[in-house]
Amino acid sequence: MRFYSTRSRQLTATASQAILGGLAPDGGLYVPEYLPSIDFSSWQADSYQEMATKLFGLFLTDFSASAIQRTVEVSYGANFDDPRITPLHRLDENHSVLELWHGPTLAFKDLALQCLPHLFTEARQIQKQEGRFLILTATSGDTGKAAMAGFSGQKDALVAVFYPDRGVSPLQERQMLTDPHSNVAAYAVEGNFDDCQRAIKSLMQDEAFIDQLKRQGIGLSSANSINVGRLLPQMVYYIYAYFNAVQQYGDPLSVVVPSGNLGNILAARYVKEMGLPLADIRLASNSNKVLYDFISTGIYDARRDLMTTSSPSMDILVASNMERYLHLLSGDGALIDDLMRQLKEEGVFRFDAALLDLEASWASEDQVMSTIREVYETYGYLIDPHTAVAIHAREQSGSPLLIAGTASPYKFAESVLAALGRDCPPDLEEQIRAIQELLNAPLPPGMKDLLDGRPREKHLISTSAIPAAIDQLIGANP
Ligand SMILES: *Cc1c(COP(=O)(O)O)cnc(C)c1O
Repeated sequence: MRFYSTRSRQLTATASQAILGGLAPDGGLYVPEYLPSIDFSSWQADSYQEMATKLFGLFLTDFSASAIQRTVEVSYGANFDDPRITPLHRLDENHSVLELWHGPTLAFKDLALQCLPHLFTEARQIQKQEGRFLILTATSGDTGKAAMAGFSGQKDALVAVFYPDRGVSPLQERQMLTDPHSNVAAYAVEGNFDDCQRAIKSLMQDEAFIDQLKRQGIGLSSANSINVGRLLPQMVYYIYAYFNAVQQYGDPLSVVVPSGNLGNILAARYVKEMGLPLADIRLASNSNKVLYDFISTGIYDARRDLMTTSSPSMDILVASNMERYLHLLSGDGALIDDLMRQLKEEGVFRFDAALLDLEASWASEDQVMSTIREVYETYGYLIDPHTAVAIHAREQSGSPLLIAGTASPYKFAESVLAALGRDCPPDLEEQIRAIQELLNAPLPPGMKDLLDGRPREKHLISTSAIPAAIDQLIGANP
């Protein structure tokens, strides 16, 4: 299996090269040269780990079987607080929530980012890469901490995370500022998530910057969902959840995914392409509904103000995985290149709406709040605002529905407490305790660590100061 760029078929890489490279050299994203057709029914009795092993084996063809085995074993074990890794929570006879937040940072990013560091280690051995590498990551909140947790304390890795100041929840910020190891660091940036993402993407294509790192013996990569090593782990849980849910509900089974950069939903679309008999795949937007508008009209128009919502991990106007989705539909690198140039230069492009095969819904801030309250009152089940954006879509779906639950309510305690009409204590620790009281369950390990750890001082920088921040991180880790 080779991987090539969404923007040109000429550029090919092996799996290990694609994972280490992050972005393809022409600025496109790596995609698998084809999606194999699989009779998944023979997988139904497999454990999560067995499914992951099989799926990775299809794509990571320059990895040895033992390297894949090792990676799966260390990625999906006691670091998750549920042995099923991604358990289903049944709401009623038509709806289950796929809980993707049982990892150390309490959001679905852990499914990929607990694995990516091990994929890196194996890939570096395959490519005989020596020295250190730098992971640059723009984050709307959850990727940052998940990347830090994955690489924390790893000697050959440096991780610099950039998040929009006031664009993440207080708990997300506290998580990123609380880490015992100096090889990972987070910086607040003046601007919004798109500003962060743009700055990081352009730095990753800046030859002078890359050369300077090379002279210091440091390679460069990304843990953002532009990395194809993020996408593969996310495909596993849809297969796992499908078989668990179909036992209860039968076919057809649809899925709804709260979306920002489109990585999570793309993983569902990929496994459907490979033969998993999912019915509708529904994209759920918050009030930054650029993706909803696109699916509805075929016009992708990012020329609008980005709002700060209660679901900050979806406060994104330029969804980086859109080009992988359009590539899946069109297979036309020259077209993608052209559309992405239009998006960059004019902020808008048009695509044949008849080809777009996702359903779409969106939820306003009021609807998010009332959904959190309703779901708690009806089912006694506490959800975070991202999951609420997805659950809000349940009325629009005709068939039984699997709802991707992407974050634990702990991460967005303020919004959750407000939605339930409870008093929100000013102190973060008391907010955590208030959520724990509602859940009536022990604190997850990630929350315990957070309460025990001492946060570092916050650094607020402009996008132009990002290279200096990186220099400083390198200097602090000789
Ligand atoms: C990242 C994230 C999303 C959006 O996922 P994409 O893959 O970027 O579409 C949704 N919810 C939460 C909690 C997230 O962390």
